[in-house]
Amino acid sequence: MIMTDITLTIDGKQVAVPKGTSILQAAITAGITIPHYCWHPGLKAVGNCRMCLVQVEKWPKPVASCVQPVSEGMVVKTSTDEITKIRKSVMEFLLINHPLDCPTCDQAGECRLQDYYMNYDEVPSRFAEEKVSKNKMIDLGANVMLDQERCIACTRCIRVCQEVAGVDELTLANRGDHTMITTFPGKKLSNPYAGNTIDVCPVGALTNKDFRFKKRVWFLERTPSVCPGCSRGCNIEIHHEELKVYRLLPRYNPEVNNYWICDEGRYGYKFINEDRILRPRILEKNISHLVSSDEAVDRLAGLMKGGALDEIGVVANAQETNETLQALADFAKTVLKTRHLYFSRREVENPVSDNFLMTADKNPNQAFVDKLGFRPLSTLKEVRGLLVLNSLSPADMKKVIEKKVPILGIWASNENPAAHSSAVVFPIPTYAEQEGHFTNVRGLTQKITAAYPPRGEARLVSETLEELTERLQTNARSYTQNSYPLSPHL
Ligand code: SF4
Ligand code: SF4
Repeated sequence: MIMTDITLTIDGKQVAVPKGTSILQAAITAGITIPHYCWHPGLKAVGNCRMCLVQVEKWPKPVASCVQPVSEGMVVKTSTDEITKIRKSVMEFLLINHPLDCPTCDQAGECRLQDYYMNYDEVPSRFAEEKVSKNKMIDLGANVMLDQERCIACTRCIRVCQEVAGVDELTLANRGDHTMITTFPGKKLSNPYAGNTIDVCPVGALTNKDFRFKKRVWFLERTPSVCPGCSRGCNIEIHHEELKVYRLLPRYNPEVNNYWICDEGRYGYKFINEDRILRPRILEKNISHLVSSDEAVDRLAGLMKGGALDEIGVVANAQETNETLQALADFAKTVLKTRHLYFSRREVENPVSDNFLMTADKNPNQAFVDKLGFRPLSTLKEVRGLLVLNSLSPADMKKVIEKKVPILGIWASNENPAAHSSAVVFPIPTYAEQEGHFTNVRGLTQKITAAYPPRGEARLVSETLEELTERLQTNARSYTQNSYPLSPHL
């Protein structure tokens, strides 16, 4: 269907937009910012905060630009003296009972009240009376805390539950200056997309239990990436400082996840910070020894040369990037010349899925694993050893133990049972520390970027595979054990 364009003028700029567009959206198209609290591009417009009022030439009174559709020849002014005065009054009204506890508020630094106060108010309060006090620490559910005093009743959180999660879990109660956001009696905010209420709240009323008081937001760097939590591949921002991730936020992509992510993905970042393998090691007589990368490569090459290379199997993993998987497949086909190409993957009990974002496959890259021709490890044939990427699922680990197949080498970012029993262990970066791509369930290939350099002595799989190829094609160098004995289970 061809949409007719409407031409209008906003602050002297001509702009053409499809019929039905609101003035606020037309202004965004023209590069003009109209302040707003209750409007969100991913939610239905309700026009309740009154911050986005604008003047339309020949119209008797200002209109809410988020709900007013454009019309042909309309002339809009967004920042006249009258409009500035209205915004100042809206700000004063919103701040009358506001607690102004910015120093301890997690939203400080990304708060619309703070921003618009600087733009439109910037005068001391005239309110001499006692402020209405409300509850400040209400546990709304697994992940969200509510401070009722900070709420400006924009209703974004109610609408995100209704329109995105499809549930009625939040509502406004009471009237006037006693209006407050609340759950229904005896109920919790428990939908699997509840974390999005925190993102859309323009102030510090809804805060993230996981992130509360951990970091001032202005210290955080943002890196675009893709969630590895399931095969949807939702677009995310990694918020980090130095070598630590503090939170994941959704990144807009209309083809994949729009403005949203599920809570499973949002809180699935802990493994990046915890339980990491930071140095190469070898297992000797059930004792782990930390070694240099060179020594680890030498040791693995030595073990592999103990028999025919094509009797060694490789195990890919659907958690790794296209580049890593391709490097392993190339190595298996051209260096080992093996037919034993398997894969393992993250398996969870009773995986949650829906017809919105969450898929039952909790791996970001099964599509690429399949494309390269890796087969499930459950079909494991006779091999004299395995090279493993990342980890093995419990069922695959059981299979390997039953068949008494030794794990000769593993490339892993985190401690796991397969790493504990591998003869040689190479630390690798997580998805947050490398460039690459994931191919999602719909065949869409998306880029991930490195938030910071690999931790410890982690290196890309392709780098050690190149060195291993060299060693396998020349005489093995003599191996000297380094003197760092450790307990067998790190
Ligand atoms: S919501 Fe904004 S203005 Fe209110 S206390 Fe938090 S940072 Fe300050
Ligand atoms: S809690 Fe936040 S999002 Fe919800 S109505 Fe209040 S200010 Fe708006």
